Amino acid sequence: MSATTTWKCPQCGMDWAVSNRKCPADGYVNMPACVSLVSAKTGKVADISASARLGKAVFKQRFADDDAQFASDEQFEIVRDTDAVAWVLRHVAGARNPTYYNGAEVPPGGCELVTGGVISVGKSRMRLTVQFK
Ligand SMILES: [Zn+2]
Repeated sequence: MSATTTWKCPQCGMDWAVSNRKCPADGYVNMPACVSLVSAKTGKVADISASARLGKAVFKQRFADDDAQFASDEQFEIVRDTDAVAWVLRHVAGARNPTYYNGAEVPPGGCELVTGGVISVGKSRMRLTVQFK
């Protein structure tokens, strides 16, 4: 049996269905503490625990992927959205190449990250797989 159909709120100790993204009793936000981006090419990992803008320098240093050359200085944002209770990917306006998620261009409002999703610069460069901690 799956253990993921409910979650326990650390504030009130109650079990809630996963369809409740916030605790109905006290509003606790039930979302992963940390997003891990894993380079498909080098296997190197960057953990992101707060909203952050990432670009060429980070890609080069953290992932050691030469595809970093296709990214702009600021390419995309990872946002911890506590209203939507989701980690959201947003393209940075002005970046030279588009940011893609799962093979489709990231829409203006951004898109929610889920386990196993793939972020890329253009359709296939600088591929990063999404994991949560
Ligand atoms: Zn609670």
